[in-house]
Amino acid sequence: MLSVIVNKSVCPSCSATHQLSIALPLFAGCVSCGCVYFVDKEKVTTKTDLKAMPVQPFSIISVGTKGKYKGTEFEVIGHIRSIGSGAISNEWLMKMATGLLLWLCECGFNYSVFDPRPVKLTQDHIRHIKAGEWMSVENKDYTVTDLSKQVEFQMEGQLPEECFNNEPYFEYNAIDIKDKGLLSVCIFDKNTIEGFRGQSISLNSLELSGMDKFKSWI
Ligand SMILES: [Zn+2]
Repeated sequence: MLSVIVNKSVCPSCSATHQLSIALPLFAGCVSCGCVYFVDKEKVTTKTDLKAMPVQPFSIISVGTKGKYKGTEFEVIGHIRSIGSGAISNEWLMKMATGLLLWLCECGFNYSVFDPRPVKLTQDHIRHIKAGEWMSVENKDYTVTDLSKQVEFQMEGQLPEECFNNEPYFEYNAIDIKDKGLLSVCIFDKNTIEGFRGQSISLNSLELSGMDKFKSWI
């Protein structure tokens, strides 16, 4: 679990000041000039070539949106858009009131919440796996539903250094038919394979503050 700190950083490109919500080191998107910069443990900032997300005028979930998950309040502090070979997916970083970080994910209007702590996997877990077949992870059997490849990555807000990959990588999505548990297997290289466990949720259950904006549309 990452500790909660109250801190500020200055954008190395335009000198805008941002409040930092998570422990260093981290990546931050500048809301003034749109660059993405890195803040190291000593609060030294450097420019990066990470892609910032284009500004969206309308979005139910954005950086700053508040909500509730399993009775605990959270605020969205970061957002990744992963453009894959088959689909575009969104991942929002939820900072829980307890300090715990979770990912709210969306793909094809299906929403889920993932634990960012990975299960280390080996090549044996994924050898010869194709869609429709099952793989066993931590004594649970997951059926593989699809395989995709991240080809582009965009971000906004703040993200811890070790919690994302902006390079191309392969990802298997799988589901445990028995309890509907989700597993996302990310293959970064042949020695770095990580599984992330998640659960499907209904968007309404999160009581998102951004929903209020949309009430006037009806
Ligand atoms: Zn800036």
